[in-house]
Amino acid sequence: MRLILLGPPGAGKGTQATSIATEFNIPHISTGDIFRYNIKEGTELGKKAKSFMDQGLLVPDEVVVEIVEDRIKQEDCEKGFLLDGFPRTVPQAVALDEVMNKMGVSLDKVINIQVDKNILVERAVGRRICKGCSATYHIQFNPSATEGICDKCGGNLYQRDDDNEATVTTRIDVYLNETLPLIEYYENKDKLTVIDGQQHIDKVFEDIVNVLRSEK
Ligand code: ADP
Ligand code: AMP
Repeated sequence: MRLILLGPPGAGKGTQATSIATEFNIPHISTGDIFRYNIKEGTELGKKAKSFMDQGLLVPDEVVVEIVEDRIKQEDCEKGFLLDGFPRTVPQAVALDEVMNKMGVSLDKVINIQVDKNILVERAVGRRICKGCSATYHIQFNPSATEGICDKCGGNLYQRDDDNEATVTTRIDVYLNETLPLIEYYENKDKLTVIDGQQHIDKVFEDIVNVLRSEK
């Protein structure tokens, strides 16, 4: 199964992606995670991405497209993959279509996780991530059992540099200006399903699984 998760920052893409990837046994590809890993490792790519990410802006299309192209050509993606946070612009979506066409594969579904703008800032600012395994928590909506410690691996939780109110607000504006047109793009291709992202995390997951199972 080849899937895309769409939705504004804080919609719950990463949270759902982890469960979907396990359920359908496909790799979870998060371009944000790839950039954060490269920043941590101090690579050239990380240096290039950091200045954009710190400002809440998008990393240039050509940089992101190359990374995703390389990644989905890897062997573990032969049976499918789940893209989280990519594409984020129409040119990225067009490039993905071209790459997948050349590979002779097609997209099964685009899931749009819909959440009202007014709760996105609260979600993103309260987000905490495990340094060890990248599991995602929320200080209020999905807290770990022990504050600051990951339930899954015991690692320390941290707050992303770009999860402050000012940067999140910019990221939401960037989403509205640059990513929102993708909804129409995938609607026109008859690939889009909208999921109510304001329900409990487990119910959002249940709705997504129901949609994907009915696809098969
Ligand atoms: P995204 O990847 O779309 O930016 P995340 O999956 O990281 O979003 O979720 C953003 C924050 O909101 C996290 O702190 C997460 O724990 C929390 N969250 C995710 N889904 C829900 C939900 N359905 N209800 C309440 N909080 C949620
Ligand atoms: P995310 O982890 O999806 O919230 O992404 C964090 C940041 O990484 C974004 O605010 C962008 O700066 C950058 N980023 C991630 N994915 C993309 C993408 N597809 N295109 C451009 N920038 C991206």
